[in-house]
Amino acid sequence: MDRIFLSPPHMSGKEQQYISEVFESNYIAPLGAFVNTFEESVKNYTGAEHAVALSSATAGLHLALRVLGIDKDDYVLASTFTFIGSVSAILYQHAKPIFVDSDESWNISPELLKIAIKEAPLKPKALIITHLYGQVCKLDEIVAICKEEGIYLIEDAAESLGASYKGKQSGTFGDMAVYSFNGNKILTTSGGGMLVSGNKKWIEKAKFLSTQAKEDFLHYEHKELGYNYRMSNVLAAIGVAQMEVLGDRVERRREIFEFYKKSLSQIEGISFMPEIEMSKGNRWLTTVYLKNSNPQIVIDALEKENIESRPLWKPMHMQPLFKEELAIVDGTSQKLFERGICLPSGSNMSDAEVKKVCNIIKDIF
Ligand SMILES: *Cc1c(COP(=O)(O)O)cnc(C)c1O
Repeated sequence: MDRIFLSPPHMSGKEQQYISEVFESNYIAPLGAFVNTFEESVKNYTGAEHAVALSSATAGLHLALRVLGIDKDDYVLASTFTFIGSVSAILYQHAKPIFVDSDESWNISPELLKIAIKEAPLKPKALIITHLYGQVCKLDEIVAICKEEGIYLIEDAAESLGASYKGKQSGTFGDMAVYSFNGNKILTTSGGGMLVSGNKKWIEKAKFLSTQAKEDFLHYEHKELGYNYRMSNVLAAIGVAQMEVLGDRVERRREIFEFYKKSLSQIEGISFMPEIEMSKGNRWLTTVYLKNSNPQIVIDALEKENIESRPLWKPMHMQPLFKEELAIVDGTSQKLFERGICLPSGSNMSDAEVKKVCNIIKDIF
């Protein structure tokens, strides 16, 4: 019995052809034409003006903080309900996170965000928001707060490539944003990320820092600290093939979500992550909240049938790593964590497989 994974890679079929072209040209490394093509394709799809392809989204967030001048002891606001890669760069910079809880949208609460800004010991310099599981945050409110307060907005769009708000793609609302091409995301290059911005200078600076901050001399001159964060041409070739099918992948994930919703809605106390008005999520993962039951029962029952499922992200303010850090929380994300489940949502899942998952869950209730 083949295992049903949460979100496995789903190749388009063109990847190997493009990788062959890389080999034929011998531009295996360091860079090459596919890196540029990959950046162009992400810019074309999302409407982002400038982009740099990187080894991961985590690296992209680190570069964003560096470029925006976030340094030791600066405060950075962030969604608490997220994955660690969203916020580890705050510690790389020896800055201080202030975690903000979610509201009924499951994403960051604009109300709690305002309180966090008021209560911060010093004015925070930046805010990192996560568009959780592919559904966008309350962007109008958040953008307005950041403008009014003079706080940089960084979108962690690692999970939300292809999602939009009022017809505009996630990742194009903030000062900078990252997409991830890690193995479990809606598209994958096996591992990779992209940093985007409307500010050309920032992306040029990020590109410079991502390639060891080499000054423009033949003899390797260095004035500042850089990183080895650039994407390889081989992986970019995979990315180009993946970008060609992004629209299909979003539609299929949304279809799988609708299937689950229709099939499971009759269960007492079940609810699904909402999609805010005038937005279209990519439904990267279908996630449910079980008001009356322990999700472990569902996770175990699915595991017995060789099906992968998981709890929702454990909020950052509950992590031992961050136990000393400030947090403005009201229990929302903790409750979601304790009662939530991510269901298998890969775009290559068949209808029969989705039905099988639904039947196992319905049998429990
Ligand atoms: C996957 C993910 C990241 C990290 O992406 P990488 O490319 O693996 O570094 C960051 N934030 C969120 C919300 C993610 O889901």
